[in-house]
Formats: sequence, structure tokens, C-alpha cells
Amino acid sequence: MTLETSIEFLKTIGPERAKLIKSVLGLATVEDLLTFYPIRYIDKSKIYKIGSLTKDSETDIQLKGKITDLQEIVSEKGKRLSAKFRDETGTLDLVWFRYSKWMKDAIPLNKEIFIFGKVNFFNGNFSIPHPEIEIDEKKALSGTLLPVYPRSEKLAKRGINNKLFQTVIFNILKELPQLLSENLPDYLLKSMKLMGRLGAYYNVHFPKDLQHFESANRRLKFEEAFFFQLGYGLKKLHQKTKSFGNPFPIVGDHFNNFYNNHLPFALTNAQKRVLKEIRTDMKRPTQMNRLLQGDVGSGKTMVALLTMLIAMDNGFQSCLMAPTEILAQQHFNSIRELLQHTDVNVKLLTGSTKTRERRIIHEELENGELSILIGTHALLEDKVRFQNIGLAIIDEQHRFGVAQRAKLWAKNNIPPHILVMTATPIPRTLAMSFYSDLDVSVIDEMPVGRKPIITAHRREKDRLSVYQFCRDEIEKGRQIYFVYPLIEESETLDYKNLMEGLENVVTFFKSYNVTMVHGRMKPAEKDTNMQFFAAGHAQIMVATTVIEVGVNVPNASVMVIESSERFGLSQLHQLRGRVGRGAEQSYCILMTGDKLSKESRTRIKTMVQTTDGFKISEVDLELRGPGDILGTQQSGVLDFKKLNLVEDSAIIKASKLTVERILERDALLNHPDNQIIKQYYIRYYKGKNKWSQIS
Ligand code: ADP
Ligand code: MG
Repeated sequence: MTLETSIEFLKTIGPERAKLIKSVLGLATVEDLLTFYPIRYIDKSKIYKIGSLTKDSETDIQLKGKITDLQEIVSEKGKRLSAKFRDETGTLDLVWFRYSKWMKDAIPLNKEIFIFGKVNFFNGNFSIPHPEIEIDEKKALSGTLLPVYPRSEKLAKRGINNKLFQTVIFNILKELPQLLSENLPDYLLKSMKLMGRLGAYYNVHFPKDLQHFESANRRLKFEEAFFFQLGYGLKKLHQKTKSFGNPFPIVGDHFNNFYNNHLPFALTNAQKRVLKEIRTDMKRPTQMNRLLQGDVGSGKTMVALLTMLIAMDNGFQSCLMAPTEILAQQHFNSIRELLQHTDVNVKLLTGSTKTRERRIIHEELENGELSILIGTHALLEDKVRFQNIGLAIIDEQHRFGVAQRAKLWAKNNIPPHILVMTATPIPRTLAMSFYSDLDVSVIDEMPVGRKPIITAHRREKDRLSVYQFCRDEIEKGRQIYFVYPLIEESETLDYKNLMEGLENVVTFFKSYNVTMVHGRMKPAEKDTNMQFFAAGHAQIMVATTVIEVGVNVPNASVMVIESSERFGLSQLHQLRGRVGRGAEQSYCILMTGDKLSKESRTRIKTMVQTTDGFKISEVDLELRGPGDILGTQQSGVLDFKKLNLVEDSAIIKASKLTVERILERDALLNHPDNQIIKQYYIRYYKGKNKWSQIS
């Protein structure tokens, strides 16, 4: 047996069950079983009495008594086996929905035995479906901390139950010394007070006691975090030495002229600090790979512009790429306005750019006349060739895939500096692990004079007063957004809701102008309507989430989000960020139905309680896990078996520090003490960390 051995070769499993286990649980090899960790443990030295069960009792329990009244019941739904189980205090039902004749015959009747299973309480009756049966008292009562593995009804029906997993994994553990060896050096085990690797596997499945279980858990978590960090640590070293970048040594006329003569407001301290970090980075002859995090409205665009002016001062072109046409247009408008009294050549390239204009852009890019190109992913097309691109800025990073970003690299012999801007703050632990090869800058301060947005939760019965509130705001000269979900699976239904919503709004707000933007519109139409609203010709904008990112209308002060329980936290936060951009007090009203799931309630409550994007992202991480937050393309990279990015930040920090210390002294892992790490890393981890750069 090796770790790679397929589980079909295990005696207790065999090919047929192996197939099932693989399809339901995704477990294929011995290694998969070893890392198929229990979700909790049960105390089998304990025997419950039927008479003492309540509907709030432990669900996995062991009972001692006799099976009686076994009968086969045939109904429309199919056959099932049913029996009674009695002890001296009462009776409950046993039931089997799937069984073979062999199984049926093997059930011991009227004999003192032990059963173990999950108790259901239904209609005043207790029952246990597919109970495990044990005749041997010693076996039944052995083990105070027995593992309970993730449960699948589908497998239990085929006799693949917890007991089977216990047996199989127990048998594997007997061979452990042949299967795996220590992968952390002695000095680390000692200094970090870590349990040995073999001991950890034994104790995570069959803990000797609680303390052993905890040590085992900690060891396995540390191991995972350690090798993950090692991967990034090695890559970062590699990147620093290998990936050349164009140094931008100077800050010259373009920057200074704009900064001294055309800056419409003083930069916040955070903007200044971030700019300095970026400058320092770009002075070096290595490629900048930096993530700029800043809450919605924190002023990232200005930082982007100033950075592009530095590139220009050093003789390089820049591009700014946005995920949607509207957003690209908005960036273009605001940057063009800011630069109106300068001679900087800025152009916009999107899918709807006319051929003639496109030709001019291509030409000016190649002859170097064009300094700043703003656009959508149209920028990535091969036809778009720069004379000398030195800086690529990507707004709202989570919308772009890794492969798309890689295309930017190829636009110059020496790859451009990369600045990724995101308004979805990534929780610190996540950033630390996922982006540990990236430098991170944070704008953690809002421009002065902004009032925190007031957020309220309202239901259908409050609709009239919500509308009245909106009318009062309009009377004060403000503008209002009504946002509806438009989610692909139910697009038609959502579309209908949107239209009905529009009708409601139009009926109530008769004396005002209402405009609309949604995903089914042509870009030009969207744009016209958006401009109409931005110019103040319409008081109300009814929209779907196409307005989620970046749209900037400072006079809009109320954001009503319809069916807000259907939005994710970061989306709600993004949407809310569309208001509160001017000096006026702004409001966000979260409309929901009457029935809310627990998770929706948490989301809504979080939104009402805080406007801090970092706090919101922490809650989001707890609710959804890292894969969903980072986008499907990137999930899987953080598929940890034991490590939990929310709970284990201390371990993540410790492992990161440990890796840094080791690599500082022994960057190539050549020291004899570190051979054990190196061998293991090369064998198991090297191929797995494909994600080297974010761009
Ligand atoms: P985001 O970080 O969400 O992209 P923007 O760059 O769109 O934010 O900035 C939001 C608004 O704040 C814009 O209207 C911008 O002009 C304004 N702004 C940016 N920086 C400052 C500042 N330092 N002082 C005042 N207003 C600012
Ligand atoms: Mg922005």
C-alpha cells in the first residue's frame, strides 16, 4: 500500500463501493482517506436509554437492547425494512430503505445487542435509519473519542457508514510508518512545539484524549500553512531576482504640473502614503506587482491618475482597464476632466469604439503619441499594441481572470508594472495567504467631509413610507437609485420583477423623471440613460447590478436595494458605495421579504451595523469561505484540508514568519537540516502552487 493506492484495492471497500465513494465524496486514494478528517467525535463508552431521549438529545447515540418485530413493508414508494428496538425504558423504530436479502437475514432478532446511529424525531416518535449493529460488547464499548466522518445518506443506504470508514481508516493507520514520514525538521518541531506527523494522523482520527486531539490538529494545520507559505516565499524570491521591470526614477513635469496646478482637492494622508509606496516600488528595476485596496469612495482613481503621470514622466505609456463599459467610460470622463488643462493625450477603447476611432487609437499607441489608454478588456486584444507600455492598472480585480491579466504582461518585452485596484477589501488573513507574493497598499481613510451612510432594513409593509422618504429627499434636490437583482439563473423572472418595479416607481413618482439601466440594454442606450441621470435630468434611476461598480453620481443620496436578501455582502457593500459620494447625508435602504434565512439575516444585520469594508469582508469570509470570495477561477488554490482562514490566523502568521526566517538564512534550502522540507516540497507542493503572480 502507498498513499497513491486506489481505495478499490482495500479489502473492506472493493471496486463497487470505491466507485460510489469516489462519486459522492470524491475520495479516490489512501491519501484521500487519511485526510478525510472527522467532523467530530463521539463517546462510545456511553450507553443511552430510550426513555431519556428528548428531541434535543445528542443525535449520534449508542443503545443496548433487542431488535423485534422485523418486517418488510411494501408501499408505492418501494420496499423498506422496519423493526422495533426495545430496552428496559422504551421502544423506538428502526428502518432500512435499502437492503439486500443478505443484510435482512443478518439482523439479529431478540438478542441483547448494541446499536448505534443517528436519531430522528418525527411526529412524536424516535427512529434510527440504517443503524449500525454490534454484537460484541467489548467492541461496542471501546473508544471514548471515536471519529464521526462526514455523513452521506446516499452512502449509508449502501452500507457505507461511519463504522466502515472507522474500520478502513483504522487499518490504514496501522500501516502509517510505511506510508509517510516526517516532513518538518526536528528543530521546527521543537521550537514550535509540534506533534510528530505520524502521531498527528493517529490522533486526528482516533485521539487518545482531548489534548492529543488538539495537538494533532494544530500540527496538521501548521503543516498545511507552512508548505503553502513556503511555496509563495520561494516564488517571491524567484520573482524578485527574475522579473525585470522598467525603473521609473523620476517625478517630472507632467506629474508636477498637474499636482501643483490642477489638483481639485488635497490628497488624504492615506492617498499620499499609498502613492509613496507605489513610487518607491516603481523606482526599482523590478516589476511592481501591487494590490491597492481602498473602500468604495476612498479615491483610488486619483492615485491611478497620478501613478500614470509618473509613468509618462519616465517616457512610458499606461493603460487603465475596467471591468465594464460604463465604468471605463466613467474613468475616462473623470480623468479627461481632471486633465483638461494639460496636454496629456488620453483615449477610451471599448467594445463599442467605432472603427475609425479605433484605427486612430492603434496608430497613436504604436507611434507613442497616446500616453494613457482607458478601456475594457478590449485592451487585451492582440491588435492593441503599445509603443512602450510601462504601467497597467486594473480596476476591480475580482472581475478579471488570471489568464486575461497575463495577456497584459506580453504587451512589452519588459513587463509593465502592475497595479490592481479593488474596492472589495480582502480580509487580512486571506490577503496574507493568498496574496503573499503581492505587495499590498491600503487606503484606509475617506476624503474629509464624508458622512457615514445611514443604512436601514425595511420590509414590504414599509414600502409606502420608504417611497415617501425618497420623495422628501428628491424635494431636497437629491437623486435616488432603486436596484433590483438580476441573476442569471432566473433572469426572465428577475427581468419581470425589474419591469414591475419600474412601473411601481413610475406610478408613485409621477411628477419626476425616471430612467433605467439594465444588462439587456445596448451599451449606447445604457450610457445615454446613465448620463441622463448623472446630469440630473432624471431624479430616479431604476437599475440592476450593472451599476454596481464605480458609477459616480455625487448628488445621489439614497440607494434602495430591492430583494436585498438575494445579494451577497460584498455586492451590497459595493452597491451602497454608489451613494455617500457628495457632502450630503446619504441613506441605504435594504428591502427584504418577510422570511429571511439565517445567513441573509446576518448579511443584512452586518450592513446595518457597519460601513467598514474590512469588517464586512471578514463576515463575508466566514459566511462564504475563501473560494467564493476570490472567484471561482481562483478557488481550489486555497482548498485547505484542515486550515481555516477565519479561525487560524495565528497559525497562518506563525507559519509565514517561520518561512521567512528559514528562507532568509537558507534561500535554496541547502542546509542539511532543511533537506526534509525541500524533499517534501519538491515532491508534493511544487506543482500545486501554480498561482505565482496575480497578473
Ligand atoms: P473609488 O476609490 O471608489 O474608485 P473614486 O476615485 O471614484 O473612489 O473617488 C470618489 C470621489 O471622491 C470622487 O468624486 C473623487 O473625485 C473624490 N475624491 C477622491 N479623493 C479625494 C480627496 N482627497 N478629497 C476629496 N475628494 C476626493
Ligand atoms: Mg473606482
